[in-house]
Amino acid sequence: MADKSAYVEVFGCLQNEADGEALRGVLRGMGYAFTPAAADADLVVLVSCAVREKAEQRLYGRLGSLARGGKPGRVVAVCGCAPQLPAARDTIRRSYPHVNLLFAPGEIASLPALLSALTASGERLFTPIGAQAPPETAAPPPLRAAGPKANVSVMTGCNNACSYCVVPRARGPERSRSPERIEEEVRALVADGYTEIWLLGQNVCSYAFGFPALLRRLAAIDGRFALRFMTSHPKDTGEELFRVMASCEKVAPFLHLPVQSGSDNMLRAMNRGYTREEYLGTVRLARAHVPALNLTSDIIVGFPGESEEDFCATLSLLEEVRFNHLFTFLYSPRSGTPAAALPCGLSAAEKKGRFARLLDAQKRLESA
Ligand code: SF4
Repeated sequence: MADKSAYVEVFGCLQNEADGEALRGVLRGMGYAFTPAAADADLVVLVSCAVREKAEQRLYGRLGSLARGGKPGRVVAVCGCAPQLPAARDTIRRSYPHVNLLFAPGEIASLPALLSALTASGERLFTPIGAQAPPETAAPPPLRAAGPKANVSVMTGCNNACSYCVVPRARGPERSRSPERIEEEVRALVADGYTEIWLLGQNVCSYAFGFPALLRRLAAIDGRFALRFMTSHPKDTGEELFRVMASCEKVAPFLHLPVQSGSDNMLRAMNRGYTREEYLGTVRLARAHVPALNLTSDIIVGFPGESEEDFCATLSLLEEVRFNHLFTFLYSPRSGTPAAALPCGLSAAEKKGRFARLLDAQKRLESA
């Protein structure tokens, strides 16, 4: 029986879920057993999210609750996006002295070495922002939850500079895995009986070795499974991808294409790199190739400077596109981003009012 137990909790996106699985794989390789209660663990690891203020506050709430109790000598570690932001690091350093270890998403494979260094020094260990495991570090396979669905990270990081987003700072520039390694992983998953493979990346359409070619290559693997992917940036999503979706049965007719706003003013202020008309053109092209497309998107309401006219442009975009599902967010400033310096101009009540109107509009369209 294992004599060390670990508790891993994941906040945020599918990419963090994949990191949590990679982390569990490393811990299993170190001989840890997993416990469902932080109070029983020798090692607690939180995979944090910092994409919105609410997510960061949830992390602090969780860290607060870990301040009391727990096994003697327990190690509390934080990974994920929050420790990659200077302000969040300072908050953790100052207000949560029971956090012993902060490390970067790129260092998951180095966790055994980090834990040894922590034990040897007896001091808190905060690794540098953007730190990476040495390239020769071999990571054991991820430990995934049972079930039909498996996440496969194809790339990490982001080379864009959307004015509201902390991800490029938190995760660094894009790094793509080799098609050979990805194919090997997908083959093994299919052989293990996983039937829904999610290919993940902040912007899969800028995958360095060609995302449509990767999809074709993976779709040629024998077996009964479907491929899905997330997220596609509208400015990098083009016809070749839709051709592959139309011609490869194993690629599900699903596309998450975040638009964020229907107003060109807002898209410019957000530095998204496309116009409303370009976005609509991409949607038309996608549907021409894949008529049964299940199309989802993200919308931000209350971005600084959003006028009633800008907001109505978003509502009219909803009418025009008719998304199958929407993920809607109230804008919250993230420190260190260009948008955080912009005056908001809207009261909380106005923002909430628009948010409710957006939800109503989408509900009506989904039930029509
Ligand atoms: S594409 Fe934009 S919103 Fe998405 S992770 Fe990169 S900077 Fe953030």
